[in-house]
Amino acid sequence: MSKIKMKTPLVEMDGDEMTRIIWAFIKEHLIEPFIDLKSEYYDLGLAYRDKTDDQVTIDSANAAKKYGVAVKCATITPNQDRVKEYNLKKMWKSPNGTIRAILDGTVFRAPILVNCIKPMVTTWKKPITIARHAYGDIYKDVEYKVENPGKAEIVFTDNKGNEERLLIHDFDGKGIVMGMHNLQVSIESFARSCFNYALSVKQSLWFATKDTISKIYDHTFKDIYNDIFEKEYKEKFKSAGIEYFYTLIDDAVARVIRSEGGYIWACKNYDGDVFSDMVATAFGSLAMMTSVLVSPEGYFEYEAAHGTVQRHYYAHLEGKETSTNSVATIFAWSGALKKRGELDGIKELVAFAEMLEKITISTIEKGYMTKDLALIADHPDKKILNTKDFILEVKKNLT
Ligand code: NAP
Ligand code: MG
Repeated sequence: MSKIKMKTPLVEMDGDEMTRIIWAFIKEHLIEPFIDLKSEYYDLGLAYRDKTDDQVTIDSANAAKKYGVAVKCATITPNQDRVKEYNLKKMWKSPNGTIRAILDGTVFRAPILVNCIKPMVTTWKKPITIARHAYGDIYKDVEYKVENPGKAEIVFTDNKGNEERLLIHDFDGKGIVMGMHNLQVSIESFARSCFNYALSVKQSLWFATKDTISKIYDHTFKDIYNDIFEKEYKEKFKSAGIEYFYTLIDDAVARVIRSEGGYIWACKNYDGDVFSDMVATAFGSLAMMTSVLVSPEGYFEYEAAHGTVQRHYYAHLEGKETSTNSVATIFAWSGALKKRGELDGIKELVAFAEMLEKITISTIEKGYMTKDLALIADHPDKKILNTKDFILEVKKNLT
């Protein structure tokens, strides 16, 4: 069988622990036998990040900008324990944070559905993708505890020294105050990333805020979305047969629960934090969630939503058998290959990526799955496979 040829390299960001092992195994068994893989490899494993003073992370993000499509393995975000464990020079920042800061993107998380795992919300038939704005609001707030009676004000001083004051509250006792902000450019990027992604997957886009109560703050989000949609995307959405739908956040929640799914739900930072966990849980498993970072310029970085599965890795190091779910990492690869194929006009690559996804799902639907899924799947004939055997089962079906 002749292998599928690629034109542009895929930016490959390797990672840590159990997912690093899965990564190599997926490449060896599900990608390289079928594709003449062209990739530009960056080792984001913690040891090499430390060795290069984290320059490798920056280089990999710049490569993603140069080539447009990246696939990333889960990586350790160091904490005190990791600094000791890996004898690090310093507590390096989260690679995802560094990459996001360079690409300036929005993260889209979508569940992978299999028919033997029923969503807890019985009306949901198709995936719901959450797009979370990743800048500002309460995540960059300033908070203050009022201990004595007094006035809290917003003071804005412009660069010429002019001052504007707004009363927040005249306290006659104890209380609390919070100041938060967002940026026009960040909200614009968020909107464009969402519109671009909706077009790329041909799904409608929903967005919601509380603009009736927050007449300036939330309303600005609504207005920016609306302006950009009217000026840049209205016609494109029409030709793609999808729509942009704005509503209030409480109405959105009610509609999401009653819906069939099959759309993208853009959320402000806090809403996205809360509702992505709700949606992931209701669909079944973190190990079945994919994640893609989309920049406003249209660069894509695909990954699994879960971490490096440290507990399984330590078991593996002790020589114990593991049953770690590789589905989200397989879908990171298929997502990136499909996008590469679309951008380069390689139909075989797109078809292969779609086939890989289909076969992975049908392997599970035939009853072959890892332990995490076996615990929640409703299937009459479950066969629990270890980490490698699941990938080999997919390979057998794919071949
Ligand atoms: P985790 O790796 O997501 O794993 C947490 C638990 O969830 C696991 O112990 C396992 O439960 C279950 N799980 C997650 N993925 C699974 C899979 N593919 N198959 C089967 N079970 C799975 O989170 P963590 O243990 O809190 O974090 C470990 C490291 O990952 C940390 O160093 C963190 O910094 C990093 N992290 C990276 C990313 C990223 O790169 N995007 C995201 C999150 C975390 P059981 O133990 O019950 O089997
Ligand atoms: Mg959260």
